[in-house]
Order: sequence, then structure tokens, then C-alpha cells
Amino acid sequence: MSPATLRLLILGAHPDDAEYHAGGLAAIYREKGHEVRLVSMTNGQAGHFERPTEQLARIRREEAAAAGRVIGAEYVTWDIPDGELVADIPTRQRVIREIRTWRPDLVLTHRPCDYHPDHRAAGQLVQDATYLVTVPNVLRDTPPLSRDPVVAYMPDLFTKPCPLAADIVLDVSDRAATILAMLACHRSQVFEWLPYAEGILDQVPADDAERLRWLESWYRGHVRHRAERFREELVNAYGEPRGRQIEFCEVFELSEYAASADLERRQELFPGAVCRPPRPSAAATPAHRE
Ligand SMILES: [Zn+2]
Repeated sequence: MSPATLRLLILGAHPDDAEYHAGGLAAIYREKGHEVRLVSMTNGQAGHFERPTEQLARIRREEAAAAGRVIGAEYVTWDIPDGELVADIPTRQRVIREIRTWRPDLVLTHRPCDYHPDHRAAGQLVQDATYLVTVPNVLRDTPPLSRDPVVAYMPDLFTKPCPLAADIVLDVSDRAATILAMLACHRSQVFEWLPYAEGILDQVPADDAERLRWLESWYRGHVRHRAERFREELVNAYGEPRGRQIEFCEVFELSEYAASADLERRQELFPGAVCRPPRPSAAATPAHRE
């Protein structure tokens, strides 16, 4: 019997957050015939030094759609202005509607502690929505789910109030080319705004093939910090010497506020990853779900 088709929903704050943080897992899902939907909750209109906001919003929507096509996934960009995502009731209802209508098995988002206000709001909105997706009297125009999905946080390196717990560790070295191909679609971001913001715009080559090599070097420099931060977990998961050598990894923490997942379910939801068994959680006991 072939395994059931899984449904992965990534709710990122900006166009490119999904693939930057979880592009490897999204690629693996598509390779296995699972469904993937990528959402940018804001329109990305803030990130540029010379393009006007309306033009940039249009460009970034097209770039995101192209990135989705790399893995055969729909990439949706919401119309909320970049930098203005807040955890208010209308946006929470939008998240509830998104989860109820697309019915994901797994939702990925940012942690509610993060450097960017949009990332924090995204994490808060998903946390606030996940329990309510099962409550019939909330958003009565969209039928409730019988149970909430599993929610996991995409990797970040922040330490306050606590570092991300590496419940899931995934070596994505084999998918680096796919992740890069997705990131390269975000031309206004990776070849214009980010190098500008880092003061290295003059280093970006004009030629397309050279740009891709430049992007690989840029990406390698950035994700190396992720592998270094989680090196101990990578070595524990993959052993020596592989764990020591991995450059490209994705690490996820399961939210204790959404559906719980035992070890078997974690292995299903994160194909090819090394998963830790559940940690004891107060929120998992029924008394805390009133
Ligand atoms: Zn972002």
C-alpha cells in the first residue's frame, strides 16, 4: 500500500522565507508526490532601495510564483503590506480560513520570538489560529476541522527567551541546488536588496550563470551559521563524520500548542529527517486545552 499523500503548508512572513528556511523539506515533499502550498503573508513591498512599493509588490508576487514552480507548488502572496503584519483578529481569521480550506497535515512558520516584527506576528497568528481551527463558532462561514494540524517552527538562531529546540534535524545537502534555484527566482531580493543592505551590491555579477555561482557562495556563507549552531544535534543525529561535515541543514521545533505527533508521525511528516521523540509538555494534557 502506498503511503497517504501529505499536505504541507508553509506560512512565511515574506516572499522567500519559505524556501530560505524550509526549501529542502518542501522539495522532498514534492519529490514524494506530496502537496505543498507556500504562502507569503505580506507582499514584500518594503525590501528595496529604489523600486516603488507598488511595483516591488508586483515583482515579488511574480518572483514567488516562479519559485513555487521550481518544485511544482503554488506560492501565494497575500496583500498585507511588508512590515505591517500584526496579530489582529481579521488576520487571525484569514489564517484560520487558510488552514481550514487547505487542510494541511503540517504547518511551518516562524517562532513568535524573532528579529523581524512580521516573523513574530506570523508565529503568533499561527499559534492563535491552530487551536481555533477546530472551534465551530469561530469563523462560522468556513467549516471547522476535526483536529488541528501539527505545527513546527522553521529554523532561526535566536536565543531569547530560548534557542529553537531541534526536534527534527534534516540534512538538505542533496537539495541545495533546488533551494538555490528557488531563491534565484527572487531576483529583486537576492541580487538587489539583500546585497545592497549588506553593502556588497557591487559584487553581484551581471551574467546569469555567474550570478548563480555568486548566490551559492552567498547562501553557503549564510546557512553555514545554521549548521554551526546545530552542529551538536547534527552529530547526534547523523553520527561522525557525516554530522560534522553537513553544511546545509534544516532544523524544526514542534509547537506544543498544536496537535502532538509521536515519533512515528514525526517520521512521516518529515521524510528523511532524524526526529526526536516528544518532550513532556504541559499543553499536551487535556486540562490545559479548555
Ligand atoms: Zn522574512
